[in-house]
Amino acid sequence: MKQHLIDPEICIRCNSCEEACPIDAITHDASNYVVRPDVCRSCMACLPVCPTGAIDNWIRVLADEAYPIEEQFGWSALPEEQPLPEGLEEDAADEDGAQAARAADGAGQAAEESVLDGTPSTSAGSGVPPWSAAHPYVNLYTHQHAATATVVGNYRITEDSAESDIHHIVLDFGRLPFPVLEGQSVAIFPPGEDARGRPYHARQYSIASPRDGERPRYNNLSITVKRVTRDYDGRAVRGVCSNYLCDLHRGDSVRVIGPLGSTFLMPNLAEANLLMICTGTGSAPMRAMTERCRRLARTDEYRGRLMLFFGARTQRELPYFGPLMRLPKDFIDINLALSREPGQPKRYVQDLLRERAEDVWALLQQPETHIYVCGLKGMELGSLDALRSVVEAGGQRWPDVHAELKAQGRLHFETY
Ligand code: NAP
Repeated sequence: MKQHLIDPEICIRCNSCEEACPIDAITHDASNYVVRPDVCRSCMACLPVCPTGAIDNWIRVLADEAYPIEEQFGWSALPEEQPLPEGLEEDAADEDGAQAARAADGAGQAAEESVLDGTPSTSAGSGVPPWSAAHPYVNLYTHQHAATATVVGNYRITEDSAESDIHHIVLDFGRLPFPVLEGQSVAIFPPGEDARGRPYHARQYSIASPRDGERPRYNNLSITVKRVTRDYDGRAVRGVCSNYLCDLHRGDSVRVIGPLGSTFLMPNLAEANLLMICTGTGSAPMRAMTERCRRLARTDEYRGRLMLFFGARTQRELPYFGPLMRLPKDFIDINLALSREPGQPKRYVQDLLRERAEDVWALLQQPETHIYVCGLKGMELGSLDALRSVVEAGGQRWPDVHAELKAQGRLHFETY
């Protein structure tokens, strides 16, 4: 068999593959993401969502000697493929052909199922970029050959009194080529080792600045980082990479890999519209896209509509609140969903999408409207449900519109 394996040296543990797998063949422990050899059907649903290509490894093994997941958890590198016993080479070649055919079949089926049942996973979005998107560079710098960037700015962007400590961090690459597009991300290595004595793996952050730099025509980019002090259950923890990044000083060096991502990209058209839905630090790519449009609009190179739905606990915890509110109302239609603002009812982005259904539907009917959703995992299902309501209120069938948006590279998710 060709055993499907994930390269632990390149994997950035973003969980995309595990979410995309329709049959739970992928799992993880504190060290590695691994594939269960007895469950994986090589349907390839996990391949397009992997930002690094770590997912795309196949080693020929005898079926009863496939590497069990317990062994894969202990790896820090992939094993070498071993020669097969004599006489089996020919059979293996035949089996390769049969497996490829099964895989092609499976990929089609997985895609079809997710369109039909609206499964809330990465596969609910497009696996392709907008047709007009600029071509991205990906993986120029890898685990083995990371780029070094210098910190040229690190600013807290939530009020001092707010609980969320969110930082805007600017990284400069000097003369090292690091071409990026809005919607791409980078991964950063925190220094040090985990409890098992292995170097920490890299953590992924969306780029918050446009392609021509945080500062126009400089070789720099920015990221948005929230200092992690609690886990999902509210227990005190110290996030390894977020604390490292939030505590960096100007002049410090950082090891970076990327650029990552080839589908969450913006259209390259003066008349395209962007419908942006985000929570918290998921606003990073929306800032990049908005700023790109703002710079182009100054010379009339951008004339589309921007509509933003932005969720945060309170106004004080909203990253980039000040600069955002200074943008002209005829440039961007901003809708803030605050969930814990004293004296106000709890509101999520999906509530506002429903409230603005008529305007959202008017925008969605235009063929050059593209939708971007970024932030907490939970908002993915909520946003899909709200979009369904909007479309149905407009008198159309959601499965048809959803399938068209996906196929045309007009619906993109980046949620964690
Ligand atoms: P947060 O402050 O925990 O939450 C932001 C808002 O989303 C709050 O108002 C929250 O409401 C609300 N919310 C919670 N569940 C929701 C749901 N099911 N549907 C809609 N809204 C919901 O957010 P954060 O800590 O900044 O986290 C943002 C997420 O973005 C993280 O998961 C992060 O990994 C991800 N992200 C970050 C980057 C980056 O580059 N830094 C890029 C992409 C994605 P309540 O808590 O009051 O219920």
